[in-house]
Amino acid sequence: MTIADNLAHIKNTIQKSCDKAGRDAADVTIIAVTKYVSIDTAGAALKAGVEHLGENRLEGALEKWQEFDGQATFHFIGTLQSRKAKDLIGKYDYFHSLDRLSLAKEFQKRCPEGEKIRCFVQVNVSGEESKAGLSLKETIPFIKSLEKYPALEVIGLMTMAPFVENPEEARPVFRGLRELRDEVQKLNLSHAPCRELSMGMSNDFHVAVEEGATFVRIGSILVGKE
Ligand SMILES: *Cc1c(COP(=O)(O)O)cnc(C)c1O
Repeated sequence: MTIADNLAHIKNTIQKSCDKAGRDAADVTIIAVTKYVSIDTAGAALKAGVEHLGENRLEGALEKWQEFDGQATFHFIGTLQSRKAKDLIGKYDYFHSLDRLSLAKEFQKRCPEGEKIRCFVQVNVSGEESKAGLSLKETIPFIKSLEKYPALEVIGLMTMAPFVENPEEARPVFRGLRELRDEVQKLNLSHAPCRELSMGMSNDFHVAVEEGATFVRIGSILVGKE
């Protein structure tokens, strides 16, 4: 199987999930998570038609950006140390893991004049101790408190579902994130339009799309592991 074959298969699955849910597949963006693979493989993914790249560690993120700046939209999907944020600002287009004020403060401080930093607030819907993100209860107060940092635009919410054998078991997590997103939208906060849902990985993206994902983050079944 080539990356192009994998991509076609993933798009087909997304189409089926959208049909089932009465959604438009054009509203779902595929982020190819290239954290496990070389520059060459990431390049092959771009050739195969991938337009969005996702990285979860600073070093790999910078390496891929240096190589492919101008050829892809870049998503930072991992935990980011506040003092490292400056290294990615102006390079990465989306940050998926905003979960604390110290990071918001740093984004505010480092954001170039007149620009915005597009963030997802990361939510630990399942409450697993090992997972990053805010609890369901903490999320709305946190988003309200981000009003003080006008450089940030909260474009949506992000979650990682627990790894389960049967992806159906992840459905309540995805549904929970969607319901929370809808609640945030009702607040009509100008700094938090919160239209997007970043959820779904290789093993569970079809369920996430049925539940409303607008960005899916797919690594192993798209670009493999090296
Ligand atoms: C690694 C990673 C992914 C992709 O994982 P796969 O299971 O290989 O698709 C998605 N999101 C985050 C935050 C990751 O760290």
